[in-house]
Amino acid sequence: MSEVEEIPFLDMRKLTAPYADELKAACERVIDSGRFLRGPETEAFEQELAQATGTQYAVAVSNGLDALRLMLRAAILTGELQRDDEVIVAGNTYVATVLAISDCRLMPVLVEPEPLTMNIDPAAIGRAVTPRTRAIMEVHLYGTPCLHSQIEQVAKKHNLLIFEDNAQAIGAAVGGKRTGSLGTAAAFSFYPTKNVGALGDAGAVTTDDPWIAGNVRALANYGSDRRYHNIYRGYNCRMDEMQAAMLAVKLGHMDEETRRRQKIAGIYLDNIKHRAVDLPALIPGTTQVWHQFVVRLLERDRLKKYLADHGVQTDIHYAVPPHRQPCYERCRLAGSHLPFTERLASEVLSLPIATVSEEQARRVADLINNWY
Ligand SMILES: *Cc1c(COP(=O)(O)O)cnc(C)c1O
Repeated sequence: MSEVEEIPFLDMRKLTAPYADELKAACERVIDSGRFLRGPETEAFEQELAQATGTQYAVAVSNGLDALRLMLRAAILTGELQRDDEVIVAGNTYVATVLAISDCRLMPVLVEPEPLTMNIDPAAIGRAVTPRTRAIMEVHLYGTPCLHSQIEQVAKKHNLLIFEDNAQAIGAAVGGKRTGSLGTAAAFSFYPTKNVGALGDAGAVTTDDPWIAGNVRALANYGSDRRYHNIYRGYNCRMDEMQAAMLAVKLGHMDEETRRRQKIAGIYLDNIKHRAVDLPALIPGTTQVWHQFVVRLLERDRLKKYLADHGVQTDIHYAVPPHRQPCYERCRLAGSHLPFTERLASEVLSLPIATVSEEQARRVADLINNWY
């Protein structure tokens, strides 16, 4: 075993190395400018992100969770959402989506994903609607867009708003539109491991609505709309100039990064042929950006161990769904009936994709094919 080459799940240095010179130059530019917050780097990055997403506005903030919280609070301030309103979201999302909803004193209502995209099931949304339902949160998990046109029909029928958690799907598209431009507003995370990663924490909100954009901007800056004038009881959730400069570099390389991930996903899809292993689907009419490459199988833990024994690290997204987390133990959420979500939690396995070479991907596929 010692002679086999280890394949890490993700090699952070390898993720950054190709852009090191550009990042260092940008870093130097910020140091020399003496401007570290609310300056030209942030402004430029916001414009580039809005353009890349196809929205009127992008507001740079501190991280993805804050982006979600500020987006929802901004909609509360415009009156589009009200306290205790129900927000429907897929049960297999990352816990941060649910934390943001409950933190804003909105009511997360978890529903099942469907097996094609592993994203929220449009039919399940319809069944979960009550007179208190006001919004749907589309989480484009693993970089695969939700079934947006069907969700949009449900939203129209019941007069619901659509928000997006686009933390895992920057650059993805559905029906010719980029994720992050599909609803009232969208939250992005630039956590270092995301497809466009900062060198630290960062996030953003995109929207076409000037009131939402203005409210997010004010809330992220102490609730102040101009200097020493606080219209809201706000927070300090700004992105700093250094991260904005790093992110402008990374965003500039997003398309090549996406193509690289698509290439590796293609190798897995063409080469993994094991009857016990279900592969993720290619969804027609969408651009998938493969934040994770997630296979499904009953004997997930055994395959994980087998791959680890052969030097291949994998990960699980996510082993414990939000409604099973201790923080929601005594809430209505804990009573959610989500058998498919729970089954997925025991069956999903994420193969390394972000920093593997084509040759390594072929080796992972061969290893899986040779598993009993
Ligand atoms: C990463 C992530 C978040 C949280 O983003 P942070 O920047 O880590 O706060 C929220 N939702 C989803 C789906 C994520 O993957």
